[in-house]
Amino acid sequence: DTSHGPILYVEGVTVSFDGFKALNNLNLYVDEGELRCIIGPNGAGKTTMMDVITGKTKPDEGSVYFGQQINLLELSEHQIARGGIGRKFQKPTVFEALSVYENLELATAGDKRFWKTLTRELTGEQRDRIDEVLGTVGLAGSRSNDAGNLSHGQKQWLEIGMLLMQSPRVLLVDEPVAGMTGEETERTAELLTSLAGKHSVIVVEHDMAFVRSIARQVTVLHQGSVLAEGTMDQVQNDPKVIEVYLGE
Ligand code: ADP
Repeated sequence: DTSHGPILYVEGVTVSFDGFKALNNLNLYVDEGELRCIIGPNGAGKTTMMDVITGKTKPDEGSVYFGQQINLLELSEHQIARGGIGRKFQKPTVFEALSVYENLELATAGDKRFWKTLTRELTGEQRDRIDEVLGTVGLAGSRSNDAGNLSHGQKQWLEIGMLLMQSPRVLLVDEPVAGMTGEETERTAELLTSLAGKHSVIVVEHDMAFVRSIARQVTVLHQGSVLAEGTMDQVQNDPKVIEVYLGE
C-alpha cells in the first residue's frame, strides 16, 4: 500500500473556555514531510491549536489523529511527546550549566531520569545520533561549550536538536525566529527547511518575511477557524485575509 494520506488530521475541533470558542470547528491536515506555516492575528487560536495537537488541551468536539489509526485524544501529553510529536516553545529551555553535548545526552530517547542519564554509558549508536544532530543544528563546533554561553539563536537550535534526539515525526515550532539576528533567522530558515522531508514541521510565526522564505503552504487562522490556506502569495492576496490583518 503506497497511499499515505496526511500524517496529522485535526477535524472539526472546537475548544471552549467559559463559552468562548478559542477554536471553532478547526480543520487542519498536514502531510508527511511537509513544512507548514500557521499565521493569524493575536487570539486567532494558534497556541490552542498546538495545545490540542500535543495533548495539553482536550477539545470539546472534533477529532485529532496521527495517521489514520492513532487517536491522539486518547493519549496523554506525555505519551504524545514520547510517541513522535515534538514541541518547541518560544523560549529556549536548555540546561545552561551543562554542555551542548550533555544537553543532547539528556534528550536521548530512553530513561528520562536525568540523574541516571548523566551517569550511564551511551551506546555507540546513541553517540552517533548526537553527532549527527550536532551537525544538523550547526553546533558541532560548540559541543563542549556550556549551553548558558550560547547565543540566543544557538540555544534555539540546541533545543531543536534536543527534540530531534527523540526522532519525532512531527515537529511543532512556536515563533522560532523571535529575537534572532538577521543571520540567525536565515540559518533557522535553512535548518527548518532541511528538517522538512524527514519530519513534518509546523511553524507558528509572526515574521511574514520569514514565513515567505520557508513555507510552501500557509494556513491562516482567525477566530478559531481556518480563514485561508495556500501559498503565501495566495493567502496574502485573499481579500478575507487582507481585511483581518488591516483590522488588527
Ligand atoms: P493565539 O496563539 O493565536 O494568539 P490563543 O490560542 O492563545 O491565540 O487564544 C485564542 C483565544 O482563546 C484568545 O482569545 C484567548 O484569550 C483565549 N484563551 C486561550 N486560552 C485560554 C484559557 N486558558 N482561558 C480562557 N481563554 C483562553
